Amino acid sequence: MKRSGLPFIGGVGAMAVTLVLASCSGEEKKTETTDKQKEELVLIHSHAQPAESKVTHLSWDADVDFEKKQLRATATYELENAPDADRFILDVRNLNIETVSVDGEPTDKWWLGEGGDYFGQGLEVEIKPTTKQVSISYSTNPDAQALQWLNPQQTAGKEHPFLFTQSQAILARTWIPIQDSPGIRYTYDAHVSVPSGLMALMSASNPTEIDSTGEYDFKMEQPIPSYLMALAVGELRFQSIGDETGVYAEPSVLEAAAYEFEDMQKMLESAEEIYGAYAWERYDVLVLPPSFPFGGMENPRLTFATPTILAGDKSLTALIAHELAHSWSGNLVTNRTWNDFWLNEGFTVYFERRIMEAVYGKDYTAMLQVLGRQDLMKTLGELGEDSEDTHLKLDLDNRDPDDGMTDIAYEKGNAFLMMLEEAVGREAFDAFLNKHFEENAFKTTNTEEFVQRIKQDLLKNDAERYAELKIDDWIYGPGLPENAVKVESDAFSKVEANMEAWMVNDDLSAMDPTGWTTHHWLHFLRNLPDSITLAQMQQLDRAFGFTETGNSEIAAEWYVLALEQGYAPADDAIDAFLVDVGRRKFLVPIYSAMVEADPTLARARAVYAQARNNYHSVSVHTLDELLKWDEYDAES
Ligand SMILES: [Zn+2]
Repeated sequence: MKRSGLPFIGGVGAMAVTLVLASCSGEEKKTETTDKQKEELVLIHSHAQPAESKVTHLSWDADVDFEKKQLRATATYELENAPDADRFILDVRNLNIETVSVDGEPTDKWWLGEGGDYFGQGLEVEIKPTTKQVSISYSTNPDAQALQWLNPQQTAGKEHPFLFTQSQAILARTWIPIQDSPGIRYTYDAHVSVPSGLMALMSASNPTEIDSTGEYDFKMEQPIPSYLMALAVGELRFQSIGDETGVYAEPSVLEAAAYEFEDMQKMLESAEEIYGAYAWERYDVLVLPPSFPFGGMENPRLTFATPTILAGDKSLTALIAHELAHSWSGNLVTNRTWNDFWLNEGFTVYFERRIMEAVYGKDYTAMLQVLGRQDLMKTLGELGEDSEDTHLKLDLDNRDPDDGMTDIAYEKGNAFLMMLEEAVGREAFDAFLNKHFEENAFKTTNTEEFVQRIKQDLLKNDAERYAELKIDDWIYGPGLPENAVKVESDAFSKVEANMEAWMVNDDLSAMDPTGWTTHHWLHFLRNLPDSITLAQMQQLDRAFGFTETGNSEIAAEWYVLALEQGYAPADDAIDAFLVDVGRRKFLVPIYSAMVEADPTLARARAVYAQARNNYHSVSVHTLDELLKWDEYDAES
């Protein structure tokens, strides 16, 4: 995924480790869990007991009802059981379970455990060791946290409704009863019925044309973890880019998206040259409406992406390289628990920049590295240099795993891998990572196993070298260790020189920004002195049109600055942006700057009241906390 920009907001709720089970007929049953099981439960943020009974294949048959904002579905699971298995446990949250059958026979031997907010409930079904199949009919609720139902007004076309899912980290359980842990993989097929005129797409083999019957079939033949389950429904069109690549979008967005992502096939081929064959056959990108809470989500075969990367000049396509890189790090080799999230994201940022280097060159990539390092230093500042949340190996037990999705996993993870690359040389490091991907394909791995690989395969058991590289400090310690590779960009030095010339001469014509991309401007805006005056801001705005820019990255940076400096001419544009765009990475800093400027929260809450319905639950969750929305809602 890319990228949260999420501040740590304290853990909420406690995880149920003993399931007090209430049967569908009201009878109570209590299961004792052993210490070992407790440990597993906490570690994997799931109620599932895969050692006893594990899903190997899911068949999902669903009806999409836009009027009721509801999915009605039957999920059929093929099982792999231990010799003494007597129960199959799934994760559910906010679902209406209707009927359950075991090997085709209806049963009432199923129980829902106690509720626990983000953690949901365990759904336990009595089985025998010989049970092959369990089937569950259920429906979702209109406020299902993974699902975002958009009315036509919230789409580009304004004519048809739209639905999309976001399952990571543990929201798949709000639309499918599932063993919702990154450590459990299964294959799936699906049949989905949607209103005529709409297209359905999943993280699977996909149609390229609208079927007038509204009936669609899907197959995912490579085993995936549940956080990669994805569905989107809308008035969508497809355009091919290369042999294995293409783009889906609403009709009015399609052309711009195809232009922006023109280099996708080249990116795919470069990625294969670095880390071996692409395992998922096709790589397509779906451009969603602007309420999508993330930059992108690496749903296999079909990345979900925000339209805010359509800059018109291909300058934000590093995000596509990022999601593509997840086809290896994350989707192929998966973090075993969310405490190991850096194995998904740090690897992916490292790999993203390698792809960008191969396609666009070293100078371009140097800019990405510097901006990434700036993000990291900012996050370290916010979390505090000593915070345990700045360790690569996280401790998210008893916390919502979404809390761990900060720049630490992404940029400190990347910095760690850059340090290793520099220490052993690129050739040796690539050979090491190739082996890592090959040997762990379609499996999970955790931090401890990876550290073991570094010791044995990369450093050949040289303990002195291991200590010298401060590997334990990187992984189990806070902050950024001093042996991080320094990142520099010549292009950015020129940006700084331009800024200096303007400031010294007090004359904007001393600047020559010809050929500047989004990255140059971001560096420029981030490095303006605190002492900048409103007159200077107005000068800049007149010359470069920041307030009215259609480039979301530049807009977000400028709006934060405008709020910090009290630059009122940007106020209306800021409000409009917040109502339109739901990407959390932009929302959090802008709302935070608003709160800073007006600690009564009045201003921020006034915009949020208008915008909240346009946001997905993951953004709402973060902003409700930031703006103390519960208190406000109760008062008003
Ligand atoms: Zn990612």
